[in-house]
Amino acid sequence: STKLTISGARKTFVTPEKTHVNAIDDVSFSINQGEFFVMLGPSGCGKTTLLRTIAGLDSLDEGEIHLGKQRIDNLAPHARPVNTVFQSYALFPHLTVAENIAFGLEMERRPKQEVHQRVQEMLELVQLQEMANRKPAQLSGGQQQRVALARSLAKQPQVLLLDEPLAALDLKLRRGMQSELKRLQRTTGITFVFVTHDQEEALSMGDRIAVFNQGRPEQIGTPEEIYEKPSSRFVADFIGETNFVEAQVERQAGAVGAERAENAEGERLVVTLPGGDPVTLTKTVPTPGDRVTLTIRPERIRLTPGGVHFATGEISRLVYMGTDLRCTVTLSDGTELALRVPPPFDEGYRPGSEVKLYADAESLRPLAPE
Ligand code: ADP
Ligand code: MG
Repeated sequence: STKLTISGARKTFVTPEKTHVNAIDDVSFSINQGEFFVMLGPSGCGKTTLLRTIAGLDSLDEGEIHLGKQRIDNLAPHARPVNTVFQSYALFPHLTVAENIAFGLEMERRPKQEVHQRVQEMLELVQLQEMANRKPAQLSGGQQQRVALARSLAKQPQVLLLDEPLAALDLKLRRGMQSELKRLQRTTGITFVFVTHDQEEALSMGDRIAVFNQGRPEQIGTPEEIYEKPSSRFVADFIGETNFVEAQVERQAGAVGAERAENAEGERLVVTLPGGDPVTLTKTVPTPGDRVTLTIRPERIRLTPGGVHFATGEISRLVYMGTDLRCTVTLSDGTELALRVPPPFDEGYRPGSEVKLYADAESLRPLAPE
């Protein structure tokens, strides 16, 4: 298969103020052929820079990029089997839709008949057959974006790089284009490397997501892995809503007399939270002290028995949201936990009520120390 592999990549910029920015900071990972791969992260974390180095618009200071066995980071941009779609569609205003799509193929002096056929296929692919003779100014934003996509797919790249291509569209249009892009990727089988800072977009579109923080991917995994098993506080916090809570470490493997856990995921770590029973965690991390930070999603906390009784607290806020009650529970050490109570709503829940909190042990995720 033709994997896109980035190994030991570094890129430093010197700003006008003469400070050094490690835009890409020792990055190594692979993207599978035919994968919808999402690079997610806050503004300034290096997503665009990495895309530009893959495209050849920027050079790496260190490291290599391979597509299958072929090294591509030393090739000129046009010689790479890669194409890019930017947020600004950069269509030629004086050319029609069909001429815009044909442009790259004509530059390569492909036969007229082939160009014509490719253009028809692309128009069909993005469902713009009726618009072939319009100029970009006569199209909506979403239609212009589809022309830009058709133009970059026309040359049949092995990899399509997309830098926040939907950021300029309004929410409703963006939702439509998300499923459109997903469909295009599936039909063409082309590897998509899709950059976004929108976590919902990343979760709904990616086969895998790389969550970037300060120039490098902090975690790479399927949307479910990233959401359910965040490996760091940054990832847990960046994706969705979550709680952080400090727990007392009761026992851990490595200490004298500690028991070894059977499961393959790691060694045993038993912790307690305020007012809770001891919980044996199913995934452990290095815990240098006697405290460890856990993260748990609001929808994983229950007020009804089941799993482990991990804490006891007092309801401090209740907000009725129709589909659920948004509830805040304060533990004896002052920690506030957000949770959702599904209907039917128990009349007994009101601010000041003492409640026991339950969860499945694997929903309590220990975080590696920062
Ligand atoms: P993102 O796309 O994730 O928002 P960028 O890749 O654009 O991030 O930028 C990463 C970092 O590199 C930022 O701190 C940015 O200011 C810096 N940077 C990007 N391009 C340049 C440049 N040409 N000169 C100086 N600094 C740059
Ligand atoms: Mg960017």
